[in-house]
Amino acid sequence: MVWISRVIKQDVNIFDGPTLLATSQRDLFAQGLLPERTPDTVYRAIALQRLPTFVGEDQIGPLQYQLAATPIKVGDRDAILTVPMTLRQREIEREIAELDRSVNLGAVVFILLGAALGYSISGRIGDPVQRLTRASRRIAAGDLDQHVVARTADELQGLVEAFNSMAAELSRQREQLQRTNRLEAWAEMARQVAHDIKNPLTPIQLSAEHLRRVHHDRGTPLSPVLEQCVDTILLQVRMLRQISSEFASFASAPTARPTPVDLAGLVDEVIGGYRIGLPSNVRVESEVAAGLPQVLIDRTLLGRGMINIIENALHAMPSGGTVSVRADQIDPSWVRVALSDTGVGMDAAAMARLFEPYFSTKAAGTGLGLTIAKRNVELMGGRIRVESQKGAGTTVSLDLPVAT
Ligand code: ADP
Ligand code: MG
Repeated sequence: MVWISRVIKQDVNIFDGPTLLATSQRDLFAQGLLPERTPDTVYRAIALQRLPTFVGEDQIGPLQYQLAATPIKVGDRDAILTVPMTLRQREIEREIAELDRSVNLGAVVFILLGAALGYSISGRIGDPVQRLTRASRRIAAGDLDQHVVARTADELQGLVEAFNSMAAELSRQREQLQRTNRLEAWAEMARQVAHDIKNPLTPIQLSAEHLRRVHHDRGTPLSPVLEQCVDTILLQVRMLRQISSEFASFASAPTARPTPVDLAGLVDEVIGGYRIGLPSNVRVESEVAAGLPQVLIDRTLLGRGMINIIENALHAMPSGGTVSVRADQIDPSWVRVALSDTGVGMDAAAMARLFEPYFSTKAAGTGLGLTIAKRNVELMGGRIRVESQKGAGTTVSLDLPVAT
């Protein structure tokens, strides 16, 4: 029996009728720890009811255990084989308890891990989301200079970057809109000023000239003082006319009609206007590269732009100097006209506001000359750039498209 019990790893007992016949737990029975009587339930089921197998509960003292039983033949006697599962059951219970413990431990570890993960995720997601929300509110309130900084998971980083570029774009567009509105308001003002200045100019000029002519015809020329006054009036009228025409040209939104033009001719024409009447210490020179291709420009608009630039150059050289106009091809599709002077130059502050309408450092300046030059050049697909060094001079470059 002991051998069998080792093989099946269970205790086994054989009962003959109501009493024990053989057992693998001899000691327990011998010490009286187990009753030698066949358990009631087993006896009833196998011996009386003649069931082929029986599995049921039995009790020894406080200990409940499972018991399996089946009838066997021992020699010619009907005996009952029982297998008490106490040990096995305890083992199972122990295993279950152990399993329970590990499940509980697992659950605790899992919960802690979850909490830690949640904490870290909430840090990585919640924080940037909060910043985005705050920044969105500020943008909605009109403060467009928002930039969110966040080091986070990939998707959220993408969202933050998209948000930043949206904010930058919004801010850029608002600036553009403001500039457009400003330009429109300025143009409207220029239109009115040009109109209001121009009308009285003609009668003023005519009256002054009339005064002089009448005296001349009568043979009584004006006194030198009066003659000087008339000169001043006529000079100032000419200046006002220039201002008025700058305003008018700024206010009108011209359309460029580009045609292929020979730059050499245009440069000659523009400079020709300055050949006479220049102070003796000022020189104007030009150098147009030989074999320059034609450029696709609006002759009138470019000519006006160049005159504005040359006017500035002359004004920047109160004690004399040189204005030079050079035209060269810089690459297959662009020709550059560079207008340089040896004048006073500009500081960074002036450079920054150069193309702003009404920015002028001159007492009688309109601040429109370069604004108009830039607009005209850009209208025909060209580019304008200014380089300047305080005290040394200024170069304005116009890049013009080659006519193909
Ligand atoms: P305005 O001539 O009526 O002042 P502009 O738009 O032509 O207006 O020029 C704006 C300002 O830029 C000038 O007042 C002057 O301060 C500066 N500027 C332009 N051209 C030159 C130059 N060649 N040298 C120095 N300063 C210049
Ligand atoms: Mg000017």
